[in-house]
Amino acid sequence: MIRMPQNRSLIAAGLAIAVSSGALSVAAKEWVSGIVWQQPPVVDPGPVGGPPADAIVLFDGQSLDQWVDGENWLIADGVATAAKSGITTKQEFGDCQLHLEFATPAEISGSGQGRGNSGVYLMGRYEVQILDSHENDTYVDGQCAALYKTKPPLVNASRPPGEWQTYDIIFERPHFDGNGQLTKPGHVTVLHNGVLVQNHTEILGTTAWDSPPAYQSHGEQGPIHLQFHGNPVQFRNIWIRELTELTAQRP
Ligand code: MG
Repeated sequence: MIRMPQNRSLIAAGLAIAVSSGALSVAAKEWVSGIVWQQPPVVDPGPVGGPPADAIVLFDGQSLDQWVDGENWLIADGVATAAKSGITTKQEFGDCQLHLEFATPAEISGSGQGRGNSGVYLMGRYEVQILDSHENDTYVDGQCAALYKTKPPLVNASRPPGEWQTYDIIFERPHFDGNGQLTKPGHVTVLHNGVLVQNHTEILGTTAWDSPPAYQSHGEQGPIHLQFHGNPVQFRNIWIRELTELTAQRP
């Protein structure tokens, strides 16, 4: 409690402060922005881990029909196992929130980049690495949850091989002008097993193994691609939400 001398009044910084009998009361005028915001849509968040009601379910444990080359992967017991080739969504996306769960092989084989390697390619170009990074050294900007060859994760939040892990990825696409010049880089935020590992990380361009990241102009939407790198990485519960900003009328 703030104690002030009795029978004394102060006016300071636009606030009228009245003091009596040692009690303090403050009268102030509410500040309002004047912006008329759209009413935020109501979304049922669904069960823990989703999918929320407005998500597009890309894999529900039954079918990979929404993926090009989905028939190359093995589906059993609600789990899809990478084999033969990568798979690519038929639908394309721009700004999005992507959730997926993966498990690198319980039986360890290989080392470094050869162990539990897959990857999530946003717009088919920008890879968030999937790798068995549990007690498995490799170059740090290629370990699990790295924005490949661009930025290592802030921490290594990997679970041991064979255990289910989660990715929650928030992606903001890059923008290009009519001449193909970059006007706004892309950004990615990643939570790995609920731990923040990429914090609005700037994407510097296409993530390749054999060349530095570099932008090549592209459209407003692109597919999600899951990599096959020779390892039987497992996936389940894959869903995506397209992100749309609220509309607002400004004074
Ligand atoms: Mg990879």
